[in-house]
Amino acid sequence: MKVHHLNCGTISPRYPHLRSLVYCLLVETDDGPILVDTGFGLQDYEKPTLMMDAFMQWVGVPRKVEETAVHQVESLGYDPQDVKHIVLTHLHLDHAGGMRDFPHANIHLFKGELDSATHPQTLLERGCDASHWAHGPNWVLYDRENGEWFGFPRIDILEGISPQMHLVPLPGHTRGHCGVAVSTTNGWIFLCGDAANPFHKEVDIHGHPVDMQPLNVLPGWLAYNFCGPHVPGLRRLVKEHGDEIDVFSSHDIYSFEKNVNAA
Ligand SMILES: [Zn+2]
Repeated sequence: MKVHHLNCGTISPRYPHLRSLVYCLLVETDDGPILVDTGFGLQDYEKPTLMMDAFMQWVGVPRKVEETAVHQVESLGYDPQDVKHIVLTHLHLDHAGGMRDFPHANIHLFKGELDSATHPQTLLERGCDASHWAHGPNWVLYDRENGEWFGFPRIDILEGISPQMHLVPLPGHTRGHCGVAVSTTNGWIFLCGDAANPFHKEVDIHGHPVDMQPLNVLPGWLAYNFCGPHVPGLRRLVKEHGDEIDVFSSHDIYSFEKNVNAA
């Protein structure tokens, strides 16, 4: 079983200058490859909605078709039909666009996130593009916690599949926002979505990325509210269990480059 670390959308605005990405995973399981988050999809590049087009211009997305999840799945030797399951941290437009390229896949999601996307209550919850689910995906919605995972609530998903995977609710960024934990032979991988610092300054890292201060590319009040309340808890997780859990967020290019180089 292998976990592939994928950049499903480079993010590179000119000002302020920074490098980032949409961090996705392709997890090889005994029920075929499973995608965790999907980045931007083919249609976002070829026929974007006005909202997608404006967003991609704002954050400097180069719109490379080879970065789409479907293209990378094929490059790894799979047929897109092999991807029967997709797990999403949340439905924001930079995480959910690629699911349209796998129209037959089951979409595993915390129930509150679908409510948040279809009945937004905050500005951040409006950051979804309904065209991403206009094809009517088969939602698999979870609304019950099953226990604890290193002090966080845990939802068991895809039960019976190896390796073990959990949704870990981290609400705040959006109501139904979750991290995704994947058990590997080398310990846990924890993609914590947008619950940790979204963008980092172009500086050398002396500590773990969750300890870094975010670059303020958003209006002050929005930056303050962006991640939600879980940064201290994630820092504790790294401090106490960093040797058994690889924690990274969806736009953490430092962890991405470290993990790709280690593969
Ligand atoms: Zn988001």
